[in-house]
Amino acid sequence: MFTARTLLRTLSKQRPILRLYTASPLRTFSTTLIRMSSTPRHFAEDASHKHSLHVVDDKERLERAPYLSPPGPVKGPDGKEKEFKAEYTGQCFCGEVQFEIMGEPLDSSYCHCRDCQHMHGAPYTHHAIFPKSAVHFTKGAKENLIFYNPHEKKTEYKVPCKVTCKSCHSRIADEGNNMMLMLPGLIDWKDGKMAESFKATHHQYYKFRTEDIQDEKAKFDGWKGDEPVNDAAKKMKKEMDKEKKEKEEKEEKDEETVGDQGPDVKRRRKE
Ligand SMILES: [Zn+2]
Ligand SMILES: [Zn+2]
Repeated sequence: MFTARTLLRTLSKQRPILRLYTASPLRTFSTTLIRMSSTPRHFAEDASHKHSLHVVDDKERLERAPYLSPPGPVKGPDGKEKEFKAEYTGQCFCGEVQFEIMGEPLDSSYCHCRDCQHMHGAPYTHHAIFPKSAVHFTKGAKENLIFYNPHEKKTEYKVPCKVTCKSCHSRIADEGNNMMLMLPGLIDWKDGKMAESFKATHHQYYKFRTEDIQDEKAKFDGWKGDEPVNDAAKKMKKEMDKEKKEKEEKEEKDEETVGDQGPDVKRRRKE
């Protein structure tokens, strides 16, 4: 069960920018961050009501990644800040919304949940996760995006939300508090072939599949790590549990070390 309290605790501990350059050990943790609901859907169910699409042109949004332009620096694992450098570019169907991405995804997955099926009109979706600072909109960020908050079923900019092109209605991304779930289908692949790093590592909410998928990827009936379906998923879950345990042990050790330095240091370190 992923409660609001655990979410807050997780968010307060994370340093998403550092993960831009990290490999698999942190991937599972990042995936946990985007668990937006404990229901078997991406977003909570609610009574339906009519809504009209509108553009949110709030100043605050445009002052932060990924809408900030020019983009801010991206912090590497060594703590040093690097200048944003576009490594991938992408756009919506009509081209009124364009974006660029720095670095490789923290994780990538196929989601078969009912929310995805409804909101994308597809049997399943493909998302690649990036810290917000690694994404930069080069066109349309101010006047050509519309937002939809599935929790409240409202067309307003309130994360987590769906980000869509106002003109052609292509889905651009799922925006969380710190992460962007980008859709690899929108990226301009240099040779027409998707980069290896964007390929999905697993299927989630596989129990809602419209048909069996014949691949070797890990399959979970719930979120990544929950209800493994095949051997690949069991193996992935084992690795996730191991990483989680190691991380917890390290944190405990760090706490003890800080504790030795007295309560004032301990308090300062926590702030
Ligand atoms: Zn468009
Ligand atoms: Zn989904």
